[in-house]
Amino acid sequence: MHARDDITDLPDRRAFVDLLKDAVRDAGQRDTNLGLLVVDIDRFTQINVAYGYGFGDRVLAHLAARLGEVARPHDRIARVGDNRFAMILPRLMNRGHGELASQKVLRLLEIPFEHDDVRLRVPVTIGGALCPQHATHAGQLLGKAELALAIARKEDRRYGFAPDSAAAGTLSDQWDLEMELSNAIDRDELAMYYQPQVHIADRRVIGVEALMRWKNRKRGMVPPDVFIPLAERTGHIRKMTLWAMNTVLREVGQWRHEVGPLTVSVNMPSELVAHSDLPELLQNALQLFGSPSVRPMIEITERSLMAGDRVIAQLKRIRELGVRVSIDDFGTGYSCLAYFHKIPADELKIDKSFVSRLLTDTASADITMLIIDLAHRFDLDVVAEGVEDQATLDKLASSGCDSVQGYFFAKPMPAAECEAWLQRFVRADPGSSHGMLA
Ligand code: C2E
Ligand code: CA
Repeated sequence: MHARDDITDLPDRRAFVDLLKDAVRDAGQRDTNLGLLVVDIDRFTQINVAYGYGFGDRVLAHLAARLGEVARPHDRIARVGDNRFAMILPRLMNRGHGELASQKVLRLLEIPFEHDDVRLRVPVTIGGALCPQHATHAGQLLGKAELALAIARKEDRRYGFAPDSAAAGTLSDQWDLEMELSNAIDRDELAMYYQPQVHIADRRVIGVEALMRWKNRKRGMVPPDVFIPLAERTGHIRKMTLWAMNTVLREVGQWRHEVGPLTVSVNMPSELVAHSDLPELLQNALQLFGSPSVRPMIEITERSLMAGDRVIAQLKRIRELGVRVSIDDFGTGYSCLAYFHKIPADELKIDKSFVSRLLTDTASADITMLIIDLAHRFDLDVVAEGVEDQATLDKLASSGCDSVQGYFFAKPMPAAECEAWLQRFVRADPGSSHGMLA
């Protein structure tokens, strides 16, 4: 008997994978086409936040019912993620039929869902893929449908299908990259690098930021600016972040140096910050790998704070576990000065786009000073990112900035290299220039 999801009474993701494997095998034996649609509710976090979780559950049940109306007798529906459903469409004639099914789902969802005086048109994006045209393996077929969904959403379309091989063009590279990324942890291709943060006034090392690196066996180093957004779009980011948290606590806990307790910051994507199980996940990681010499911190972006009061309550719980909170890339996006005072945070990081223009652009310099001043009023430490030269460091020092991180002191380094750097740094005369230290 397959496991079912309580809210929608549909098979869950695990049960779905079995169903999909059976369907793929059956399609192979009968030599027919199989279609797979992945249907994802847009901005579901915001729906939950605005109308409550009870309402969110009803939206899920509503969508499950609409999919049931579209399904033919042999089609199968499952709930494969928090706000994600899948539909297996056996014996499709061609891609056109898959598109017709998508359009039918979208049409049914035009009719608003009503509950407790709220009327809402449930917004979804749909991605589709066909077997054997796009993949002949269940996991890959799901991956292709999910990537088609991510691309459709990025391009602001309501549905999209995996490209046919002739039309694949430059996209094919992205398909491969996504497949490779899904295996990166298992193949041991990910590593955490560490970049020191130095307190300006006394040149003490206060901590390190952990930054992920992906060395793919075929492509070599893939930049985080490429693979992190891809991981966020395809949902791999959750597993990767948990892996990062565990790895960082384990590695840094084993370092030997005389710096004293070291803060280690891990970047936390907004998807995880919004998810109610984050405190529990952090607690588990700390129980397994925590050590007294390591002080964990998470770096969250302003985007995470958009979700409002619920995230604020969540951050409070996280801080009660002894994990501090840093607001990353400050100034680049959705600045939320209005409720700045409510944010339970310990540190604010000024984005390197301001820091790099500090000496040449007076507006950047003014904004930086304002941010530092504001942060101090709310008792936050200020770290400037991307400090590459002495003149910028001096300017930050005179503006009252507390700490810096950047190539001027050190680039992000593998664990063993950073440990050695810390040993050298602490033994050097604190007043000497960084050139002697690094
Ligand atoms: P970020 O969080 O803003 O990280 C700071 C970036 O600035 C890092 O790029 C770092 O190598 C770079 N950097 C540091 N000092 C300097 C400097 O002096 N000059 C210049 N030009 N750059 C400097 P990196 O490592 O390539 O990471 C890029 C972005 O990828 C990060 O930006 C972060 O958003 C994301 N990222 C990296 N690792 C992780 C991770 O483990 N999890 C998540 N969710 N995101 C990550
Ligand atoms: Ca960061």
